Amino acid sequence: MLTLAALHEANIARQAAWCPDETKQPSLSFRGNELAGETGEACNVIKKLERERHGWAGSRDTLEHLGEELADVVICADLCAITAGVDLQAAVVAKFNATSEKVGLPHRLDPSLNLGALIFGFHMRDMLSDSDPVVAAGAANALAERIVAFLTKGSA
Ligand SMILES: [Mg+2]
Repeated sequence: MLTLAALHEANIARQAAWCPDETKQPSLSFRGNELAGETGEACNVIKKLERERHGWAGSRDTLEHLGEELADVVICADLCAITAGVDLQAAVVAKFNATSEKVGLPHRLDPSLNLGALIFGFHMRDMLSDSDPVVAAGAANALAERIVAFLTKGSA
């Protein structure tokens, strides 16, 4: 299951191969422009989807392509964090929880929760209509742990 920590490790390993010359490493300025570029690509897909929703003339795009561009945004955000020395996973948890606190909502991220379980939780929320996604993610995480325990020890 994907975690921000796993993405972080994969990004570091791939970048070492991609830019092997230690005297010519991507700067934070390069990473920032890269992130802005990918964000722009995602926004351009959204523009085309909105155009189609309104029935206006012009080129079209797909949700699959939007997913690809949003993936680029997440990957590049992590590359920015690596270059700046920021712990992105801790920053995401802190910022999500601070925003909930600021606007008076009860939703909090558990730093031990993995990203895959959180995404599954959001899908579960959609299926269950009004269920809290963080609660659903916690339930998904607990279920995954029980399944792993069952598969590795023979009991759940
Ligand atoms: Mg892209």
